[in-house]
Amino acid sequence: MKITRRNFIKNSFLLGSSLLLSPLSLHAIPPKKEPWIPAYEKLEKEGKLAQRVKQAYAMFENCQLCPRRCGVNRKKGEKGFCRAPMKLVIFSASPHFGEEVSLVGQNGSGTIFFSNCNLRCIFCQNWPISHEGRGKECQDEELADMMIKLQKIGCHNINLVTPTHVMPNILNATRIAYSKGLHIPLVYNTSGYECLEILKILDGIVDIYMPDMKYMDSNKAAKYSAGASDYPDVTKKAIIEMNRQVGELQIDKKGIAFRGVIIRHLVMPNRVAGTEKFVKWVAQALPKSTYVNIMPQYRVEYKAYEYPEIARGITVQEFLEAMDWAKKYGLTNLDPNSVAVRDFYLQRESDRVPFKGA
Ligand code: SF4
Repeated sequence: MKITRRNFIKNSFLLGSSLLLSPLSLHAIPPKKEPWIPAYEKLEKEGKLAQRVKQAYAMFENCQLCPRRCGVNRKKGEKGFCRAPMKLVIFSASPHFGEEVSLVGQNGSGTIFFSNCNLRCIFCQNWPISHEGRGKECQDEELADMMIKLQKIGCHNINLVTPTHVMPNILNATRIAYSKGLHIPLVYNTSGYECLEILKILDGIVDIYMPDMKYMDSNKAAKYSAGASDYPDVTKKAIIEMNRQVGELQIDKKGIAFRGVIIRHLVMPNRVAGTEKFVKWVAQALPKSTYVNIMPQYRVEYKAYEYPEIARGITVQEFLEAMDWAKKYGLTNLDPNSVAVRDFYLQRESDRVPFKGA
């Protein structure tokens, strides 16, 4: 029986969630001998974190927090492209077990979803949160309490999803949470559409950067991400800066990530994401051992069905060619779930075993 696209997508999910991968199977730099402390702790002890919070908050008056550079005064209630107020809006805060294995560990990644978004892709899987801004307004102190609660229940990190437009609130909340005992890594889980000067403010605060690299072509970026034609150039520069700050992914002896960069790249139908160009760029601009997650789980969401080019899931062959390109350009640290999905389909194709999915 042929492997259909439907079966491929379904089984990518099933396989991804059921793999019993040990975090220790990851290729990552082993920890140094001195005890680890979070980046923000060092900065606070040097007396510099308060100044960063102040510097970040001042940006609300003429918002340049992201490359949209709207220049609105969010302190006065004006809203820019992201439609975000100055106050935090949070959709959820809970342990998440669907992230990369070194973030999830045994107890989950402490994931906080911020409402609204500065990129607003038309295929967004979280569109009620990012496009419609569903969520609850919160004070920075409440965010700090959420961080502490996630740490208390054993989460291995604080995973800040779509943080760009609320970066000042996050810094303030981190400082408050640190005073209450926060001591786990901050994961900056971003679309990658970040300004260099903003990343400089985050230098010494964020432990793990997890940017997307969605497209390599400016026309595609403009078409599918609300006119953001500068996305490829801006994001390439941003990732290089992130790598300068925190370097390659490091894990502790239990296989839990505590510092470094994880790059995510979602394979899209009809080569829309420019995967070959992406892996080639990583191989040339960054260490070949940079942790890269080539993701197979694209699905037709939100308004993607209006664009024929992306109005379907990816095929087995589209995923396999993406993984082949990564190998061809010499990337050595691919996400183990993606590697397992690739191996699963290669094995099935070579065995020609009938697939018995629903
Ligand atoms: S964070 Fe929002 S208001 Fe500020 S520049 Fe970006 S899109 Fe505009």
